[in-house]
Amino acid sequence: MTGASLSPAQIQNRLTLSARWILRDHRPGDDGRCPICRVADCTAARTARGYLTGIGQPPPRPR
Ligand SMILES: [Zn+2]
Repeated sequence: MTGASLSPAQIQNRLTLSARWILRDHRPGDDGRCPICRVADCTAARTARGYLTGIGQPPPRPR
């Protein structure tokens, strides 16, 4: 399956899944920093959160 054969709904589905994976991987640790990027409020997590909020599926709040 190639990207060109995907419908917009399928593409959004995949982006949504990817955004959730990103948020899980880039969840801040005990010190409030992303364990991968080593900064607070890293770009990857912020972008993924913004995408999910933009499509009306805001991520659940951890803790
Ligand atoms: Zn990060």
